Amino acid sequence: MTVAIVGAGPAGLMAAQVLAQAGQAVDVFDAMPSPGRKFLLAGRGGLNLTHSEPFDAFAARYGERQPQVERWLRSFGPQAVREWAGELGIETFIGTSGRVFPVGMKATPLLRAWLQRLHAQGVQFHMRHRFTGWSQDGSLRFESAQGAQSVVSHAHAVVLALGGASWSRLGSDGAWVPWLQARGVPIAQLQPANSGFDVRGGWSGYFGSRFAGQPFKSVAIRFGSFHRQGEFVATATGIEGSLVYAVSALLREQIRSHGSARLEIDLLPARSPQHVLREVAHPRGSRSLATHLKSRLGLDGIKLALLHEVLPPQVIADPARLAAAIKQVPLVLAAARPIDEAISTAGGVCLQALDEQLMLRALPGVFCAGEMLDWEAPTGGYLLQACFATGVAAAEGALAWLSAATPA
Ligand SMILES: Cc1cc2nc3c(=O)[nH]c(=O)nc-3n(C[C@H](O)[C@H](O)[C@H](O)COP(=O)(O)OP(=O)(O)OC[C@H]3O[C@@H](n4cnc5c(N)ncnc54)[C@H](O)[C@@H]3O)c2cc1C
Repeated sequence: MTVAIVGAGPAGLMAAQVLAQAGQAVDVFDAMPSPGRKFLLAGRGGLNLTHSEPFDAFAARYGERQPQVERWLRSFGPQAVREWAGELGIETFIGTSGRVFPVGMKATPLLRAWLQRLHAQGVQFHMRHRFTGWSQDGSLRFESAQGAQSVVSHAHAVVLALGGASWSRLGSDGAWVPWLQARGVPIAQLQPANSGFDVRGGWSGYFGSRFAGQPFKSVAIRFGSFHRQGEFVATATGIEGSLVYAVSALLREQIRSHGSARLEIDLLPARSPQHVLREVAHPRGSRSLATHLKSRLGLDGIKLALLHEVLPPQVIADPARLAAAIKQVPLVLAAARPIDEAISTAGGVCLQALDEQLMLRALPGVFCAGEMLDWEAPTGGYLLQACFATGVAAAEGALAWLSAATPA
């Protein structure tokens, strides 16, 4: 039996591995010249494969989709990912934050070993083959590198692992949405996840040019029930970085429903409000406010600049109000950055469009995996973990489908 896998990212490659191991003939198609482009990019900042926290806490990272994602994680969870990497000759380690990385932190050696294994298993790769939907007779249509020439695949089962719609230059452009919709598959609108945001009205020229790219270190963000310490970065138009990504789904929804989102930044999370008030109110004599805040509280650079950027002069001049503001600098966000800049994508193929085995109810024999499904998670290894797990689940679903289709 032949299985066509469309999309050679981590989800599609994992599906290819499971199917090839089970003895199926596997053809992998991808629009890009080589597989795993986004996986390789993920390795640039240190490839975070999964996370070591307890299972319940791990599964809770998928929010409303926890019940469904949990099922996939039980079959192929964090330990399975570590063993898989180990079988490819790449040991993993747990970082101080509990995140799991390959030794060396890079994606390249892992992808190289993985592709070697897939080639050895007989998986056929068809790169520069852009999937363009279905032909009249239900077969898959591709545009190959030779211009508009159309290549048609008649597979017995299909796994779509087309990714989301961020970093489209690496291959995932979300072009599949209307094709699936036209075949009766409900799709939740693709939206940026783990994204940066623009501040309302933009930064002042001074702040934007002087501080874009600089980090806010050891700060805390409070937004509704979210309150966490960490780091983020100022951009030319707003903010981005791990602490912002962690709250980005909540911010995105608030902006969608109310037009803006107001968060509060605690510039000194390790200091109590009383301590900050005492130090700010300490007589400063002839010293400038900047010198005073630096010497009493260590506040300078981008933190000090943010105070001047967002607080009115009368608040800056009033020690009690300034001290209170240092613990909760208000920042109003007007928009998420465009989806193409996001780390990942929310929305996608609605989970109720799939059966337990990740087969599209509207398209029997067609399975879906990876980021193109409607789940989202923060950074921390949860994205790749769910892509691997759904790749395994879709492949197992395809195997069950093929065996049911095979005459006894
Ligand atoms: C900068 C950055 C850093 C990241 N770091 C991490 C990290 O450390 N840890 C983590 O867990 N996650 C990380 N991620 C997220 C992670 O890389 C993705 O969630 C993951 O790659 C998604 O896997 P996928 O297989 O579903 O899709 P993709 O990796 O996007 O692969 C989809 C494939 O489908 C192909 N394709 C799409 N449309 C077509 C078409 N029409 N025809 C043919 N082929 C098509 C694409 O070319 C692509 O190869 C990071 C993402 C970014 C952008």
